[in-house]
Amino acid sequence: MRAPGESAIGEVLVSAEEVQRRVAELGEQISRDYAGRSLLLIGVLKGAVFFLSDLMRFIDIPVEVDFMAVASYGSATDSSGVVRILKDLDAAIEDRDVLIVEDIVDSGLTLQYLMRNLGSRNPRTLEVCALLTKPERRKVDLPTRYVGFEIPNRFVVGYGLDYAERHRNLPFVAVLER
Ligand code: 5GP
Repeated sequence: MRAPGESAIGEVLVSAEEVQRRVAELGEQISRDYAGRSLLLIGVLKGAVFFLSDLMRFIDIPVEVDFMAVASYGSATDSSGVVRILKDLDAAIEDRDVLIVEDIVDSGLTLQYLMRNLGSRNPRTLEVCALLTKPERRKVDLPTRYVGFEIPNRFVVGYGLDYAERHRNLPFVAVLER
């Protein structure tokens, strides 16, 4: 039994084994695509940290990491596209091959803002790698070069994704029952 307002972990949409297998595939694909170059991964705090650190271990070309933290104005479940930078990158990205690593693309508004912001800093290339995407929710058309899994329009937690800062440590992705 759950008290009103409490949440519980529901259906598992992506198992721990599926996550690990797909992360390995993505790392290998990225290594092939960027062969002979070096890559800068930009993680969006905090959710992407878990995905990024696993992904990096499957990338066998020279790779560096940097992080950004952003806050999106809007309700807890709907981002507005108005984004505030809480922590910017440590270093310039001019002429670098840059890959933004995101946990999930929902409306796409946060990523659209990041693509514009980082794009204006003149990287050599700028692409996106997202673990999850919810195509039904997309409000803007975005080129996401690498995607782990397409999921239905449900609120999910685990593998970095939180609800009120909890559940990030789950090794799988599951629906949050509220
Ligand atoms: P967007 O700007 O694409 O609408 O929102 C992206 C951000 O919303 C993600 O980086 C994530 O922080 C949050 N988000 C979107 N969908 C979910 C979800 O199903 N679960 C969790 N925990 N966060 C989500």
